[in-house]
Amino acid sequence: MIKAKFIIGVLAGKGGVGKSTFTGQLALALDRSGHRVGVFDADVYGPSIRHLLPEDRGPRTEEEKVLPAQSGGISLMSTAYFPRDKGSSVVRAPIATQIISQFIEEVEWGELDFLLVDFPPGTGDIQITLMQKLSFNGAIVMTTPQELSLLDVRKSMSMCIQMGVPLLGVVENMSYFSEPGSLKRHLLFGEGGGKALSEEFRVPFLSEIPIDPSLNMHKKVQSTPIFDTLSKKITALLEEEKGYKIKVDDRYHFSIEWLDGKKSLYRFADVQPHCPCVECLEGKKPLADSMGEKIARVGNYGIQILFSSGCSKGIYPFSLLRDLDR
Ligand SMILES: [Zn+2]
Repeated sequence: MIKAKFIIGVLAGKGGVGKSTFTGQLALALDRSGHRVGVFDADVYGPSIRHLLPEDRGPRTEEEKVLPAQSGGISLMSTAYFPRDKGSSVVRAPIATQIISQFIEEVEWGELDFLLVDFPPGTGDIQITLMQKLSFNGAIVMTTPQELSLLDVRKSMSMCIQMGVPLLGVVENMSYFSEPGSLKRHLLFGEGGGKALSEEFRVPFLSEIPIDPSLNMHKKVQSTPIFDTLSKKITALLEEEKGYKIKVDDRYHFSIEWLDGKKSLYRFADVQPHCPCVECLEGKKPLADSMGEKIARVGNYGIQILFSSGCSKGIYPFSLLRDLDR
C-alpha cells in the first residue's frame, strides 16, 4: 500500500545523467526539511540508490507484507535488495514489468509525504506500467546540457503528457564545474539544453546542478544548498498548482481562477486555434468555431478540452493559458 501525499517520478531519456544521485539527494533534502520520504528505485536495469542511501536496516517481511528498508529516516525499496541468480544480469521486459507491479502491490510504505520514484531510462512498458499503477502528482525530467541527450528526453516528456502525469519541470545535471572557492563556471558539456527544453514544453526550469563529486556521498558528510532550494521549489509547485479552479461557465466560455487570485475568462473558440497537437501544428485539421463540451484536467500541467467540433486532442498547458490572458 502506498499512502503518500505526493508521488513524484524522476525520469531521464537515457542512462548516465546522474538520475539516481539526484533522486537520493532530493530525498535527503526533503527529509532535512521535516518530510516523511520514501524512495522507490524502479530502475530494474541498474538499481543504484543504495550507494547514496545505504540502509541501516534491510527490507523485512511481516505477515503478508513487505516493509521497506530504512536509511536514516528514509524508507527505501529497490530491486537491488533481491539479487537475481548469478549470471542473469539481463532482465527481460515482461519480467521487469511483473517485478515492478509486485513492488507496487506488496510493499507497505506507511504514511509518507513524498514518494520519489526513480524511473528506468527510456519510454517502454515498465515506464507505462509505473504511470498506470501509481497516481503521480508530478514528474521531474532530467537532462544534461548537451543537445544530443535531448531527443530521448523529449520522448519521456511526451510520454508524461500522454499518460496524464504533470510535468513539474526540467532539471539540468552536470551543468558546470567550479573549482572549490571559485565562482567561475566551466561548461564542460555545452550549455542551454535544459533551458531550451523547459521553454519548448513551457514547464519550469527547476535547477542547474554542477558537477560535484562529493554529491555521491552520504548525507552525514555534507549539506547541499542547491537541493534544499530545489526541494522547497518542488513543494511549493505541488501545493500551489492544486489550487487552480477551472470552471465551464457556459457552452462558449470557461474560466480559471489562479492561485494569486487572478481570474481569467476564455472563449473556447479563441483557445482552439492554439491547439498544440501535432496535426493542428501541421495545419492538417481545419479550424472549427466550436463550443466546449467538457474540460479534463491533466494533472498540474494543463487541461484538455472536449470541443463540440474540431480537434479535441490537444492539451493546453496552464503556462499557455496564462500567456493567452496577458
Ligand atoms: Zn489539435
